[in-house]
Amino acid sequence: MKKRIESLLRQLTLEEKIGMIHGAGLFRTEGVPRLGIPPLRMSDGPMGVRPEFQDEAWINCGNNDDMVSYLPCNSAIASTWNLELARDAGRTLGREARGRGKDVILAPGINIKRSPLCGRNFEYMSEDPFLTAELAEQVVLGIQENDVAACPKHFAANGQETDRFQVDTIVDERTLQELYFPAFRRVVDAGAMTIMGAYNRLNGEHCCTSPKLLGDVLREQWGFNGTIISDWGGVHDTLLAANSPLDIEMDIRSCFDAYYMAAPLLEKVRSGEVSEAKIDSKVRHVLELMAKLKMLPPESEQRSCGAYNDPRNRQSALEVAQNSVILLKNENILPLNRKKLRSVAVIGANAARQHSHGGGSAEIRALYELTPLMGIRMLMGGNTQVSYAAGYVIPQKQEVGDVNWQADSTTDPQTIQTGLLAEESLRHKALEEALCLAKDADAVIFVGGLDHDYDVEGQDRRDMKLPYGQNEVLEALLELRPDTAVVMYAGSPVEMPWLPKAKALLWSYYNGMEGGYALAQILFGQVNPSGHLAESMPASLDQCPANASGQFGTEGRVEYTDGLMVGYRYYDTAQVPVNFCFGHGLSYSTFHYRNLRVAPDADGWNILLDVCNESDIRGREVVQLYAAPQETADVRPAQELKAFASVCLEPWEKKTVQLHLSRRNLTRFCDQSHAWIIDAGRYELRIGASSRDIRLTAEILCEEEMV
Ligand code: BGC
Repeated sequence: MKKRIESLLRQLTLEEKIGMIHGAGLFRTEGVPRLGIPPLRMSDGPMGVRPEFQDEAWINCGNNDDMVSYLPCNSAIASTWNLELARDAGRTLGREARGRGKDVILAPGINIKRSPLCGRNFEYMSEDPFLTAELAEQVVLGIQENDVAACPKHFAANGQETDRFQVDTIVDERTLQELYFPAFRRVVDAGAMTIMGAYNRLNGEHCCTSPKLLGDVLREQWGFNGTIISDWGGVHDTLLAANSPLDIEMDIRSCFDAYYMAAPLLEKVRSGEVSEAKIDSKVRHVLELMAKLKMLPPESEQRSCGAYNDPRNRQSALEVAQNSVILLKNENILPLNRKKLRSVAVIGANAARQHSHGGGSAEIRALYELTPLMGIRMLMGGNTQVSYAAGYVIPQKQEVGDVNWQADSTTDPQTIQTGLLAEESLRHKALEEALCLAKDADAVIFVGGLDHDYDVEGQDRRDMKLPYGQNEVLEALLELRPDTAVVMYAGSPVEMPWLPKAKALLWSYYNGMEGGYALAQILFGQVNPSGHLAESMPASLDQCPANASGQFGTEGRVEYTDGLMVGYRYYDTAQVPVNFCFGHGLSYSTFHYRNLRVAPDADGWNILLDVCNESDIRGREVVQLYAAPQETADVRPAQELKAFASVCLEPWEKKTVQLHLSRRNLTRFCDQSHAWIIDAGRYELRIGASSRDIRLTAEILCEEEMV
C-alpha cells in the first residue's frame, strides 16, 4: 500500500494535491477521478449523522431520506460507565455514518467539562480525564469497526463557546498533561484515524495550526500519524497552516478557493515560499486514511456498507438510554406501581418536547424521537388516563424562517438565544392548569430541565438557573403534591432550589430516539436505574472555581487558574457540599461491598472485592476506585478516579469484582523533570459507589518512582 500511495503522489499535479487538503464543499474535499481518488466525505456528529446540506450553502437539501437514528449524547454515554455500551454506541454511530456514505464522522466530543455553563457540555463526556479516556477509546474503536474514521474533537482545552474562534486559553503544562490531554492521548493510542483541532488558541497559538500542540505533542510525543482536520474556520493563516502538521482545512465559508490552504497556498508553493514536500506530507496522510478506510480501488469493493436506520441501531440507542438515566434521589417514591394507577398527570413542557433537531452541529433529523410523555403513554397502555399540562411557557423564538445556525454563528451568535419572557398571564394560566391536573391524579410526574436553546454550540449559558419559570412551577407543584416524581431532562447541571422538597429526582441527558421510553421504563420499574454522574452537580455557580474566579466565558483570554481543581477534584479537596457528587447514582436495589483484597502485581495492584445485590430485582452497580495520596508536598486533588467496573447482579447474587490500578495510573506530571512520577508515601485506595460514598478502604505504600 505504501508503494501505491507514493505512486499516486507522483502522479498527482500540484493543483490536485491542493484540492485534496481543503474543503471543496462544506463537508468534503476534492477527489481526483482520473486516479480513482474519491472526495473525503465528512459529517457531524456525536448524536447521529447530520442531515445533508447543499455542497456550497448551509441550506438543508430538504430530502426525507437523510433521517437517521438519534443516539444518546456523549454525556449520556458517559453516565453508563460501561465500556461495552460505549463500544456499542460507537459501533452504531459508525454503522449509521457508513450507511449514509460518510468516510469521517466528526465525533466523539471528548473535551473536559470545566464549568456547568459551557454550551457544548452535552456533547462532551465528563469532568474526569480517566473516565473520558476509557469510554472515548471504546466509542472510537466501535465507530472504526465500520470502515469509517472517528474524529475525536476538539483538540485541545476547548472549554467554552464565548469568543470561541479567538479566545486564548492559558493552561499550565501540568494541568494540560493531567486533565486536558489524557483522553486525546488515549484515542491516539487506540488508533483514531483522524483528530479535529479546536477553534480556540492554546497558550497563544491557534490550536488548528499550532506547531507546539500538533507538532511537538501530537505528532512527536504521541506518534500520531493519522489525519489532522481543522475545525470549520479554525485556520487563520496560509503559511502557518502550510508549515504546521495540519492536513485538511475545513471552513464554514463557501468560497472554497479562497481558503488559506487553497489558492493562496498554491501561490506560495509556486513562489517557492512553501516547499511541495510540505504539501506531499499532508496529501500522504489523506491517502493513507483513504487506504485504511478501503476507499481506493480495488479494496473499495470490500468496504463495509454500513446501515442507517437499521433496527439494531434503535435497539442499541434504547440500551444506552436505559443505562444512562441517573436516579439522583429517591425517598420511597419510585418506582411507580403502574398496576395501581388509574390516572397519571405529566407536567412540564420537556415531557412533550423533541430535542434532536437542536444544539448546533450535533443536530440531526431523527427518524423518530419518543418524548417522555409518549414513552409513558406507550408503557401505561389504554387503561390508565395519562394527562399532560406544560406547566410553564416556552416563549416563541426570536429568530424565524430558514436561517441556518452554523452560517450565523460566525456573525451573530445572539440570534440563537430565545430571550422573550412569556406573558405573565400565560404563565399563570399554564401553572393553574398543571395544578388542577396534579391535584387528583394518582401519580404526578414533572419533566422539565433545559433544551437546545440553552445547551447549544456557539454560546455559553449565562447562569445555572432553570429557565421559563420552572422553579416557581416546581415549588407550587411540590407544595400541592409532595409525592411528585421530578425529572430533569438537560445537558448540564442546573440550580435546584426546590431540591429539599423533592422526594424523587431522575436525571436524563439528551437521550436519543428511545430516551422517553427508557425514562418511562425506569419510572415504572421495568428497568432498574444504573446511570452514575460523570460530572459533579454543584448547588450554585459560585461553587465552581472556574466561574468563581471569573475565568470562564471571558472574551480574548481565559486563564485556567483553577488548574487541576476541576469538578470533584476541587469539590472533594475543598469539601464543598454539592447537590450531587461525581459518580453518584442510585438504584432500586441495594448493593453491599465486602472483603477488599489488594495485592501487588507486576504492573501495579490487583484489587478484588465482593459486591452483593441485596434485593429481589436484578440491578447494575458501578464500583469506583479512587486513590488518595496521604502525604505529598505537592498540591494535589484529595482523590482521583483510577478504575471502575460496571457489574450486573441478579437478585441476591454476589460477584467478585476485579479492578486494576497500574503504576502509571498513580503518577502525576512533574513540571521540573517533564516526566510522570509516583510520589513516595502512603496512598489510600477508596472503593465506593460515588466519590463521596466510600464503602471500603485499603492502604498502599509507594517509593518515589519515575514511570
Ligand atoms: C464545530 C465542530 C463541527 C464542525 C462541522 C464546527 O462549528 O465546532 O464540532 O464538527 O463545525 O459542522
